[in-house]
Amino acid sequence: MSQESLLFLNRTAVVACLEKLDPVGVAADVLRAQAAGRTEIPAEGYLPWQNSAGAYSRAIAMLGALHRPEGSVYGMKLINAAVDNPSRGIERAGGLSFAFDPETARPKLVAEAGYLSAVRTAAYTMVSLGSLGPERFDAVTLLGTGALARAHVDLLVRAFPAVTKMVVYDLSDSRAREMIQWCATTHPQLTVDLAPDAQRAVAATPVTVTLTTSDTPYIPASWMAPGTFLAHVSLDDVTEEAFLGAQAVYGDDLTLIEENPRRVLGALLQEGKVTAPGTEGAPARGHGRAVEGTLGQVLLGEVPAIRPSDGYVVSNPFGMSILDVGLIDAVHRTAIQLGVGQRLDLM
Ligand code: NAD
Repeated sequence: MSQESLLFLNRTAVVACLEKLDPVGVAADVLRAQAAGRTEIPAEGYLPWQNSAGAYSRAIAMLGALHRPEGSVYGMKLINAAVDNPSRGIERAGGLSFAFDPETARPKLVAEAGYLSAVRTAAYTMVSLGSLGPERFDAVTLLGTGALARAHVDLLVRAFPAVTKMVVYDLSDSRAREMIQWCATTHPQLTVDLAPDAQRAVAATPVTVTLTTSDTPYIPASWMAPGTFLAHVSLDDVTEEAFLGAQAVYGDDLTLIEENPRRVLGALLQEGKVTAPGTEGAPARGHGRAVEGTLGQVLLGEVPAIRPSDGYVVSNPFGMSILDVGLIDAVHRTAIQLGVGQRLDLM
């Protein structure tokens, strides 16, 4: 009789585990491990297609490893999306996260990944805000009001309880209003205002997080008042000129960013208009710019943390598998403690 089985966590079980742990602390630990060279991120698998409605659809397979003194952790996230899923009443992105047994290499945990992935992304934003954001702020702007926006609000109220005001903007008025309704029931302590356009949304607070599906950059430098922190979490919102004019720019993994010219910062790195730190022939100020470094390097004190003062600071995460692996590992350990999940026999 085979002993092979794995633990399955649905969304409810994942949420129960996340409530018991600190996703922001988990993300910070992973970023420190990355900066210390104790992580591995193989090339991700990427399969794009158009569905029958002509909407961009894709599958991404992201493997990663963390090497900790107490043992290595291996895993993967399969995260698929079709941009027209919200019109079907389902979330844009969904998939599965896996944790592997380090000895047998078998998957030992499979979990619903939609919320987990959104929380890992929001956790990175919270770490970036804590290290690189304004020293004090009580209001945050969200551009885009989908699944990522909700995960950001969930973590923001835990990580920054001083934040009492949100300003939101979405091209879809109905999605923005649904989000405001959701906030009113889920986080009633927050006041949420709907901005009439993206420019006024950005101007309304010192912190903006982009969470849209825009494929056309639209945020120029002139929208950002001195003292603004911009977390460019979605792919194509910030213009080339706004990257070049920033007081400071940080990434998560500069190699991953440079390898993907579909994103603005990746194209700028490939064209040499922006260089990674320490690159020979780095452009002088006013003739392109250098990225200051990664958030992990900031956490280790290897590169200076520049908070916005007389200009604006941009954080540009690509999205790293190791953050998913760190979080799924933490969720796995919590699931065992709580006794949640369903054991699936494989044979
Ligand atoms: P979603 O489809 O649920 O929500 C996106 C929202 O953005 C929609 O409501 C849409 O109407 C709105 N929108 C589109 N263009 C806009 C514009 N120009 N201005 C204002 N609103 C606009 O998507 P989601 O799951 O919340 O994901 C948001 C984005 O985050 C996606 O682009 C996704 O690729 C990105 N993402 C980034 C990372 C990372 O680590 N960097 C990780 C996960 C997701």
